[in-house]
Amino acid sequence: MTRSDPLVAPSAEPADIAVVGGGPAGLTAAILFSSLGFSTTLVAPERHGEDFRTTALLGGSLDLVARLGLDRAIAERGAAIAVMRLVDDTGRLIRAPEAVFRAADIGRDAFGVNIANRDLVDLLEARAADGPRRIVGTVGEAVEIDADRVRLPLTGGGAITARLVVAADGRGSRLRRAAGIATREWSLPQSAIVFDLAHRRPHEGVSTEFHTRNGPFVLVPLPGGNRSSVVLIDRPAEIERLVGLTEPALAAEMERRSHSILGAMTPIGERRVWPLSSLVATVAGRRRIALIGETAHAFPPIGAQGLNLTLRDIARLASLVVAARAGGEDIGGARLLAAYDRRRRFDVASRAYGVDVVNRTLLSDLLPAQIFRAVGLHLATALPGFGRLLMRAGLGPRMSLPPAPGDDGGAAGGSGQTPNRVVGSSSWVTR
Ligand SMILES: Cc1cc2nc3c(=O)[nH]c(=O)nc-3n(C[C@H](O)[C@H](O)[C@H](O)COP(=O)(O)OP(=O)(O)OC[C@H]3O[C@@H](n4cnc5c(N)ncnc54)[C@H](O)[C@@H]3O)c2cc1C
Repeated sequence: MTRSDPLVAPSAEPADIAVVGGGPAGLTAAILFSSLGFSTTLVAPERHGEDFRTTALLGGSLDLVARLGLDRAIAERGAAIAVMRLVDDTGRLIRAPEAVFRAADIGRDAFGVNIANRDLVDLLEARAADGPRRIVGTVGEAVEIDADRVRLPLTGGGAITARLVVAADGRGSRLRRAAGIATREWSLPQSAIVFDLAHRRPHEGVSTEFHTRNGPFVLVPLPGGNRSSVVLIDRPAEIERLVGLTEPALAAEMERRSHSILGAMTPIGERRVWPLSSLVATVAGRRRIALIGETAHAFPPIGAQGLNLTLRDIARLASLVVAARAGGEDIGGARLLAAYDRRRRFDVASRAYGVDVVNRTLLSDLLPAQIFRAVGLHLATALPGFGRLLMRAGLGPRMSLPPAPGDDGGAAGGSGQTPNRVVGSSSWVTR
C-alpha cells in the first residue's frame, strides 16, 4: 500500500465485511465485496519490498478481473500466453514426448495473461481507491469472536468489527489461528529462483516448461516479445549456486538449460529465492472467518495454479454472501461457511495434491512414476480429445461470479462464459 493512501481512523461502526491482508487475494476480495454494495474494510500494512514474481491469470480469472474493470489494463501490462509447451528434460530412460498445447485448439486466442505481481498489485491498489474503506495497519493477536460479529484489534490502537472476516493474511495467518483452523503442511526438498530474462529470439506467446529431475524450469512470456520470466525449481543447494553466479555465467546456464530455444540470454534485475512447501487448511472457514488465497492453500508454482485458485475462492465466497444477503441470512453464519467449505473442497484439494503428484513424479527415480507421467503426456499428444480435456482442466473450473448490482444474474458473470479474447493484448499469437 502506498504512502499516499488515506489512513482511515478505526471506528466502532461494524462493517459487513473486514478483509485482512493486502496481497493480490485481499485486495481483489475487498474490491469485489465493496463493488457488490457491502460495507467493506480492508486492513493491510504498507507494502514492503518488491515482489519479483509474475502471475499467469488463466481462463475464468480473466472474468473476475473484467468484473473489476481491470481486464484492459492487465492485458496492456501483461503478455498473452497462446501456447504452452512441456518438454521432458529428465534424461531418464522413460521419457514423455514433448507436448504442445495451443489455446486455438480449444477455441481461444490465449490461455491467459502473464503479468508482474508488482503491476497487478499496483492496478488493484489504484482500483481500491474507489472502495473499500482502508486501514493501513495490522490485526493484532486478541481477536474476539462473538455470536454476531468479530472484533479485530489493530496493532496501532483501536479495533474494528465485522459480521464476516475474509482472511487473506498469508501462509502464517493469524486469523486462521483465531478461527482455530488447523493445516496440513509438508515441506519439499526444493527451492525456486525467480528473475526476468531478455532473449534474442521472440517468445511468440509460448510458455515453455522443461521438466528436469529436480523440478520444472519455466520460461513465461513477458510483454514486448523478447523478455520472459524465469521460475526455476531445483535442490536448494543448486538454487543457491545459481543466485551466486555472475550475470554472464547465469546467462550461459539459462541458455544451456533452455537448449537455446530463445537464443542468447541476459538476466535482468534481481534474483529472488522461494523455499517451497505446501499447505492446505483443513476447513475453508469457521467462526465468522473465511479463508482465501495462501491463507487457505499454498503449493509450488507448477502449472500457474496458485492465484487462479484464489480468485475462484473469492468468486465463490462472494456468490454465497450475495445469496445470503438476498435471502436475509447471516452473511458470516455457520451455514454460509459450511457451504463455502463444501464448494471449495474439491477444487482446492485437486489442485494442491495434483501439483504435488506432478512434482513427485519428476523427483522420483521409480519406474512406475516415470511411466505414469510419460503415458499421461503421450495420451495428451496422441489423443486430441484428451489434450483438450487437459487444457480445460488446466484453466480451472467455471468461475462462479455473483451477479453485478442491478443485474438480473444473467449477463455479468452469471453466464459463466470466459471471454475468449484478451482485450488490448498486442503480443499474442495463434498458431
Ligand atoms: C515463485 C512463485 C511463482 C508463482 N507463480 C504463480 C503463477 O504463475 N500463477 C499463479 O496463479 N500463482 C503463482 N504463484 C502463487 C501466487 O504468487 C500466490 O498465491 C499469491 O501471490 C499469494 O497471494 P496472497 O494475497 O494470498 O498472499 P500474500 O501475497 O502473502 O499476502 C498476504 C498479505 O497479508 C498481510 N498480512 C499478514 N499478516 C497480517 C495481519 N496480521 N494484519 C493485516 N495484514 C496482514 C501481508 O502484509 C500481505 O499483504 C507463485 C508463487 C511463487 C512462490
